[in-house]
Amino acid sequence: MIIVMKAKAKEDQIQAIKNRLEGLGCIVDVSQGESNCVLGLSGNISAIDISQIEARECVDKVMRVHAPYKRANRLFHPDDSMIKVDDRAIGGKELAIIAGPCAVESEEQLITIAKEVKLAGANFLRGGAYKPRTSPYSFQGLGEEGLRILLEAKKITGLPIVTEVMSVELVEKISQYADVLQIGARNMQNFDLLKEVGRCNKTILLKRGMSATIEEFLMSAEYIMAGGNENVVLCERGIRTFETYTRNTLDLSAIPVLKRLSHLPVIVDPSHATGKWWLVEPLAKAAIAVGADGLEIEVHYDPVNALCDGDQSLKPEKFRTFINSVRVIAETQDRVI
Ligand code: PEP
Ligand code: MN
Repeated sequence: MIIVMKAKAKEDQIQAIKNRLEGLGCIVDVSQGESNCVLGLSGNISAIDISQIEARECVDKVMRVHAPYKRANRLFHPDDSMIKVDDRAIGGKELAIIAGPCAVESEEQLITIAKEVKLAGANFLRGGAYKPRTSPYSFQGLGEEGLRILLEAKKITGLPIVTEVMSVELVEKISQYADVLQIGARNMQNFDLLKEVGRCNKTILLKRGMSATIEEFLMSAEYIMAGGNENVVLCERGIRTFETYTRNTLDLSAIPVLKRLSHLPVIVDPSHATGKWWLVEPLAKAAIAVGADGLEIEVHYDPVNALCDGDQSLKPEKFRTFINSVRVIAETQDRVI
């Protein structure tokens, strides 16, 4: 349940309602937006008499929320969330451009790519040190050595690091190196992992599971936020459909839908969505045109010999022209790169 206070509601009136509801066994989250204060209620809301609340002069309206997510819900938090990472923010006017190789392969490989993507306009560096591979015989990542290399690349370029965490035990270690912890599509409903990252103080990049509905996706964000970590960025990365031409099917509708339902920033990964390097640019442009707050893009200077996902990786020179053409679309949305 949501209580929207009138714009002129005073602090003591808000506190009085809060005290009364807490006395009834409700959990009350107060969210102060630019124009209104909104109270989000959970817990024992069945004890509430809505007409008694609406009778108060300082209350604008009371709404029942059928969606099971509260902290991720835009009703509870009308303004867009801006998630701060180092000296930048995801969800503001500037698009988040997270670029880098699928996997960290060597110091030379990562640092070369990091410098290239920075020069082209990326503001975050991605790279997997622990890789979720379909086959146990495929390259699994360099592990902690990969994390060390990522940190080295950050020292050189200043780009904050985005890297995947696959298990509860690794959350603490990866947090010592990375700025943003990525929860991959395969772990979107690993509830123990979601609870663990909900207790850490890093920004979480949550990727949509390949068969997850939008509501399931938002419930996974809710798990993280319920643990106390509100710094969640959603990432649409394609879903499984009957189509086999592309690796996945990019659900473009999910972007405006998620932004309507939730205040969290939404970025798009057209690399994993399509699996083909030449589809990355058109879908990235489409994603920005429908309101995405950023992109996650795989880049490699030698895709043919890449240890992971070479077929969907842009070469650095292509990444530069890619950024320039995405920038044109960004300007139509009043966004910048
Ligand atoms: C990745 O970003 O490296 C990755 C494995 O993506 P996803 O979890 O979306 O498949
Ligand atoms: Mn990949």
